[in-house]
Amino acid sequence: MLSLKNVHTYYGNIHALKGIDIEVNEGEVISLIGANGAGKSTTLMTTCGVVPAKKGTVEFKGQDITHMPTDDIVKLGICQVPEGRRIFPHLTVAENLDMGAFLRNDKAGIAEDIEYVYGLFPILAERKNQAGGTLSGGEQQMLAISRALMSRPNVLLLDEPSLGLAPIIVKQIFDIIKKINVEHKTTIFIVEQNANLALKAAHRGYVMENGAITMTDTGENLLANEDVKKAYLGI
Ligand code: ATP
Repeated sequence: MLSLKNVHTYYGNIHALKGIDIEVNEGEVISLIGANGAGKSTTLMTTCGVVPAKKGTVEFKGQDITHMPTDDIVKLGICQVPEGRRIFPHLTVAENLDMGAFLRNDKAGIAEDIEYVYGLFPILAERKNQAGGTLSGGEQQMLAISRALMSRPNVLLLDEPSLGLAPIIVKQIFDIIKKINVEHKTTIFIVEQNANLALKAAHRGYVMENGAITMTDTGENLLANEDVKKAYLGI
């Protein structure tokens, strides 16, 4: 569904992605793990066209989107939940969800999806008239994921969903991510420093170091790999 082939991305002279290859197949949860500064966020930004690749290609369902403007990429159904959530703090929970559906006009479908996300995260239903900025960090992450789901994405890109959240909330969010993949049939690409939960949730994973992919395997095999254990799981 999504395919990055020999992708090189630069920030000025900084060579952030050094020829990476990543495949995300329809229906999969894929996790990309790596240390600070490895190039994980850049991978998502290159996929969305925010920082386009200088060399190599990004394809979505066989279509070359490497140099497509970001708003056109979003219209194809590639939706990113950025690091740090970035919900609209002055809009209510319900208004934030409406914003997620701004490209749609199927009222019945939108209403159905609102009920679906309130079912996933009942706390959001309780807080629907509360300003987004007054929610806790975990609730804001739930809102950011829900807002993205309101666009009925083909692929959901999640940038560090665990960032700054208490372990119990992180576990809850990863459980919901798996549920969305199964129930909502959404393909999911996660970029994450919490290797343990990200690999447990994933069908397959990639390990990134200094802008290059150094390992790829099933989530299960990567979790059992001695190098991954030592470098990313603290075992
Ligand atoms: P983290 O987990 O800390 O967010 P990351 O794996 O997502 O890290 P990136 O944010 O993709 O890593 O950064 C990859 C490299 O590119 C780093 O060396 C970083 O300093 C550099 N970089 C990122 N954004 C910019 C920018 N806007 N200008 C210059 N260099 C940048």
